[in-house]
Amino acid sequence: MCPFRACGFESRPGHFYITYPGGEIGRRAVFRRLCLRACWFESSSGYFQALHAPHAGLFVSPFFSEPSPAFSGYLCTVNTTASPLHASMFDTPASQPWVIAGPCSAESEEQVLHTAKALAETGRVHLYRAGIWKPRTRPQSFEGMGDPALQWLVRAREATGLAVCTEVANARHVEACLAAGIDAVWIGARTTVSPFAVQEIAEALKGTDVPVIVKNPMHADLKLWVGAIERVQALVHGPVFALHRGFTGYAHKEYRNAPMWEIPIALRAEKPDVPVLCDPSHIGGRRDLLEPVAQKAMDLGMVGLMLEVHPTPEQALSDAEQQITPKRFTELLDGLTIREEQLSADQIDGLAALRMQMDSLDEQLIELLAARMDLARNIGAFKKEHGLTILQLERWKQVYASRSTWGQDQRLGAEFMSNLLEQVHTESIRVQTEVMNKKK
Ligand code: PEP
Ligand code: MN
Repeated sequence: MCPFRACGFESRPGHFYITYPGGEIGRRAVFRRLCLRACWFESSSGYFQALHAPHAGLFVSPFFSEPSPAFSGYLCTVNTTASPLHASMFDTPASQPWVIAGPCSAESEEQVLHTAKALAETGRVHLYRAGIWKPRTRPQSFEGMGDPALQWLVRAREATGLAVCTEVANARHVEACLAAGIDAVWIGARTTVSPFAVQEIAEALKGTDVPVIVKNPMHADLKLWVGAIERVQALVHGPVFALHRGFTGYAHKEYRNAPMWEIPIALRAEKPDVPVLCDPSHIGGRRDLLEPVAQKAMDLGMVGLMLEVHPTPEQALSDAEQQITPKRFTELLDGLTIREEQLSADQIDGLAALRMQMDSLDEQLIELLAARMDLARNIGAFKKEHGLTILQLERWKQVYASRSTWGQDQRLGAEFMSNLLEQVHTESIRVQTEVMNKKK
């Protein structure tokens, strides 16, 4: 059976080929992005990526064993017999997101198997995840079960047929995954920040067809993310995915990691061949935020989701606040609206993208202003304790002068800066006065 049938392929023994006219493809966003803009294909003579030609018209491919420069559209042939798991991993109906799900960490063989079975039963999962080597911020946290857990994943695959993936942070992890036959790997946010580490991982994967999912770096540095993707693409034959998991920032309170949607949008503009997935679990950090984040990702045309699922989330050894049960996972996916008419790539790259970037920047501006006012409250409390006046004229003069220069350097109008600073100062005085006047 052709594993890509939902995407419009037709199969012949040992090969399959595309028979869809261009118009039909245009309506199949997942197919286009996931399988053709993104996907690698394998043939008996090796691996290659499908060509992406946005203006492809009607085409019918004969059997090819290699990509041909004569292709005028999205065209390829695939030998499906070599690696059926890889292929089924991408078998996604156009109306559904591509889904990676599983516990934050592999905790025991029983937990890994139990969760895999429950998720396989939902029929919504394409790739099963579980962290084995956990990069934790603090050393006293649970750091994963290590190498023995690889076999738990392998057994979960045997029991359910789900392809499996885990996080790798160095060459040794990669070698252990390759030896165990893990189907796909992801590079975590703490690793993407280090070009040395990413290069080491790419070299360890060199020449393989392992799909690699590259999470964004911890901080909002688009170039670092793009660079990590390029390091992997240069050496690995498998498909490469970008996974948006949000960014750390001191002013963000609502999310565990601020989504800053403009960054994945900019990534898509820079690397249109790389499908972007979203990880609502690590963005939200809280169960109640998963659904709105996942919905937003779908509205922005992201092709898939990574969700952390645990049989008893409250007892999870890592990320307990953000994991959900398999039941809740199904409810979440059922609740998503996958809009038929998604924004086209052109719209996303145009006005709509600019507006979304604007929304995100405004949100950050407001969060920063709120953080500034919190600081003003702390300063108010300090002044109260030490019997100082609220208005310290010399300090205000310095603030005004330095910020005016910074504004000028950033090409902001002098009058605008002056009004803004006055407004911010007035609000600071107001909140400090509140603190001063508060009875103990
Ligand atoms: C994870 O997926 O469990 C993880 C550690 O993610 P991140 O690298 O996004 O923090
Ligand atoms: Mn996690």
